[in-house]
Amino acid sequence: MSFSYDVKEELSRQPSKSCCQKAELAALVKMAGTIRIVGGEKKVLLQVQTVHPPTARRVYKLLRKAFQSPVQIAVKRNNFLKDKRLYIISIDAQYCRSLLEELGILPQKENTGLQKAGMNPNLIKKKCCKRAFLRGAFLGCGSISNPKGPYHMEFVTQDKDMAQTLIKIIDYFGLKSNISERKNNYMIYLKDGDNISDILGLMGAHNNLLKFEDVRVLKDMRNSVNRIVNCETANLKKTVDASVRQIASINYFKENKIFDKLPEKLQQIAELRLKYPDLSLKELGQMMDPVLGKSGVSYRLKKIEDMAKKYQTMKGELSDVSTKRDC
Ligand SMILES: [Zn+2]
Repeated sequence: MSFSYDVKEELSRQPSKSCCQKAELAALVKMAGTIRIVGGEKKVLLQVQTVHPPTARRVYKLLRKAFQSPVQIAVKRNNFLKDKRLYIISIDAQYCRSLLEELGILPQKENTGLQKAGMNPNLIKKKCCKRAFLRGAFLGCGSISNPKGPYHMEFVTQDKDMAQTLIKIIDYFGLKSNISERKNNYMIYLKDGDNISDILGLMGAHNNLLKFEDVRVLKDMRNSVNRIVNCETANLKKTVDASVRQIASINYFKENKIFDKLPEKLQQIAELRLKYPDLSLKELGQMMDPVLGKSGVSYRLKKIEDMAKKYQTMKGELSDVSTKRDC
């Protein structure tokens, strides 16, 4: 199952206070519901269709608590949705018009049945209810990527009013969201790992918040280990390159029979370098008598390279060398 599914599953089992139930239901139904007229009469039917069993379960439960009239649930196989099951939850809206009006699902005027009503601001006055609204919105139209990949949480709705309400609530909690509009759909999305983590907590998905954080910690650790390894590999390559250059310079003196002309201190380090090509400058210094520091060894080997370069220049055999360390 996807991470999104796990989060919805956990959210669908959250306990909620009666004030919060209305806020959550309003968000859920407005994000995922449709209002239909059936039978050619003005019989209004409220339907919520979803392919997510946890969302269906939550809508059913909340509607049962909120309404006296019976709630029907039907399950259809849907070939267009890769044979997933489609859950259709319906209630006869005529019997509970006043509550649907209160939720902002039906407009408050009697005569017109179907124009969209706005979100009732009284439902989301309290902080707990704002959190419940986020939960309902996520169950209705939200998704979240597996944290192993890039961080991404999104809500997609056709309802502009709901999109704006959602942005305001995310902003109320000090989090940052972006919006993009495409073909009458509004997508509100978050990319920041900290912000996504906070929303999971606000909605009440505490177990999945912990899973999210576990993956984040591992990912951060792996990234920093990779950085260190890359850096050390780069430095090791430079050390090896430098050793190859130093040995080439020393061999130049030997091949041209001018090794004896080098000062004794330089001859001493040169012999050690030839004998131990893999040792670091520090290790070479420790083999000297008396012991020499890393910078002293570096200075002497550099001197040998410079002198070899001078001889080569004199004979027209110059090659360019550079030594630079990163990280
Ligand atoms: Zn509340």
